Amino acid sequence: MTGEGVTPSLDPPSRSDDVSSPTLTAAELGELAAFGHERAVDVGDILFRAGDAAYDFVVVLDGEVEVVRPDDTGDVVIVTHGPGRFIGELSLVTGERPYLTARVARAGRVLVIAPDEFNRMMSSKPDIADIVFGALVARRERLRSGEGARAVRIIGSRFSPPAMALRVFAAQNHLVHSWVDLEDADDVGVLLASMGLRPVDTPVVVTPTAVLRHATVGQFAELLGHTYQPRPGFTFDVVVVGTGPAGLASAVYGASEGLSTVSLDAVGSGGQAGASSRIENYVGFPNGVSGGDLTGRAAIQAQRLGARLNAPCEVTGLRIEHGFHVLVLADGSEIPTRAVIVATGARYRRLAVPDLERFEGAGVYYAATDLEARVCGGLEVFVLGGGNSAGQAALYLAQQGSRVSIAIRRDDLSSGMSHYLIERIEADPRIEVLTCTEVRELAGDSHLEQVTIEHTTTGEHRRVPCSGLFCFIGAVPATAWLGDAVALDDNGFVLTDRSLPQSALSDPAFAGRAPFPFETSIPGVFAVGDVRQGSLKRVASAVGEGSSAVRSVHDHLATST
Ligand SMILES: Cc1cc2nc3c(=O)[nH]c(=O)nc-3n(C[C@H](O)[C@H](O)[C@H](O)COP(=O)(O)OP(=O)(O)OC[C@H]3O[C@@H](n4cnc5c(N)ncnc54)[C@H](O)[C@@H]3O)c2cc1C
Repeated sequence: MTGEGVTPSLDPPSRSDDVSSPTLTAAELGELAAFGHERAVDVGDILFRAGDAAYDFVVVLDGEVEVVRPDDTGDVVIVTHGPGRFIGELSLVTGERPYLTARVARAGRVLVIAPDEFNRMMSSKPDIADIVFGALVARRERLRSGEGARAVRIIGSRFSPPAMALRVFAAQNHLVHSWVDLEDADDVGVLLASMGLRPVDTPVVVTPTAVLRHATVGQFAELLGHTYQPRPGFTFDVVVVGTGPAGLASAVYGASEGLSTVSLDAVGSGGQAGASSRIENYVGFPNGVSGGDLTGRAAIQAQRLGARLNAPCEVTGLRIEHGFHVLVLADGSEIPTRAVIVATGARYRRLAVPDLERFEGAGVYYAATDLEARVCGGLEVFVLGGGNSAGQAALYLAQQGSRVSIAIRRDDLSSGMSHYLIERIEADPRIEVLTCTEVRELAGDSHLEQVTIEHTTTGEHRRVPCSGLFCFIGAVPATAWLGDAVALDDNGFVLTDRSLPQSALSDPAFAGRAPFPFETSIPGVFAVGDVRQGSLKRVASAVGEGSSAVRSVHDHLATST
């Protein structure tokens, strides 16, 4: 530690009103000095570059630092920071690579705080941490909506499933990015040629350091530093599998209670809740809250408290080795841990129609958020299913300007949907309910354009226009990856504590003790949220279970050491 020499040059600077650019006081700079070292800088010095594997938290003591978006046609200055201000944005907390480059514009001195010391400062100096964290979050929002968003460009057609997958990943993980839709470009060839690309190369991801042709979510995530980085020789206290509401709650509680916590998700944070445009029954939000907002905040909270969230990281197996649990990832890597929280939730059932795969992501969707609604562009859409999620999706899509048909097998909505949703649907002239109806065929060229529906009582078939088919036809638990490692019920949901069969409890691994709440048939492996047999299948209950299970993790760790 070499921070002793810092002599803050402002005495005392005033706090800026702009939460994204606060000016630290001399007293705060003095406190920060203990975490880093002071360094003289000259004009043109690069403090970090966009795409660097990691970067330091830098505070300007004297001089000026500009943050620029590197561009072939000349760097674009996003912001300039003077004395008392600090450099960096939310990636300091999430562990992503920086999106922008920091360059000295006027010679002076800076305080450099390395990532580990930055984390230590954030947990030991709560007052400064609040100021810094508020600024980092505000800067991320500003970057996502402003000029900085051009640092990462996703280029493709809105009707291309791989392009849609990239956009969903970027949106779910609140990544800084912009979207270039080939369908809207006047001259696609010219646009792509200016970057040395051709239409056959799409979807393309362009970052300050790389151009990914036929980009996949995995490559994109790797490039931004979003995937799991193995830590050889390290055993986590707890690995949370799944970052829907249940897993996020576990990550927040695990990290806040000092457990080394890592969370893995096959897609990104949010889970099913992230697919909901409005959750109306979550306590404390009288006007409802978008699932993306709620889970996005939880993800940032978990990371601020020290949890690592990684995606896409599909977990494909679980085994016990030398008394530890070992999670196996789809890429073959393995993570040893002392406890596991299974929070893999459920996935919507796929429709049994020919050609489904061709249209998934190109007209067939399992979520109704802003992204899908925009692709459908206010045209005719179908929502399949008679549950609350289908009802919410229908109302949201109608609100976005689409004409919506809800197709259900039964002869009315009342057996599966809450009364308040039925009333709203009945009152909305843009929504029609088609009872005793099933979708039989999908048709379209590069994307869905029509569906054939059958009235199951009369046998009548009709082909009707449809730019989006939203499937909410019953969820199946995401437990295939567990194989027969833990006891499941007949429908594949994980059995826990009091619902475990006696045969599981007589396993010597339990050493005669009763299972802890949420514990599965393997001691130290817990299951929470929708994946668990008997859970309520609601956001609030998933959050409650995810939080409470951390108590059981503590009990397990205490008895197993
Ligand atoms: C459109 C819609 C609207 C809804 N509206 C409401 C509402 O208004 N109110 C309400 O209370 N509830 C609502 N729900 C239900 C609510 O969203 C769920 O009950 C809740 O999300 C369950 O949380 P969870 O964390 O248990 O699982 P999920 O949300 O299902 O999250 C599970 C996560 O695990 C990940 N995963 C799965 N398998 C793996 C694997 N092998 N490896 C790694 N990761 C994996 C998934 O990618 C996913 O992110 C709605 C659901 C939908 C779909």
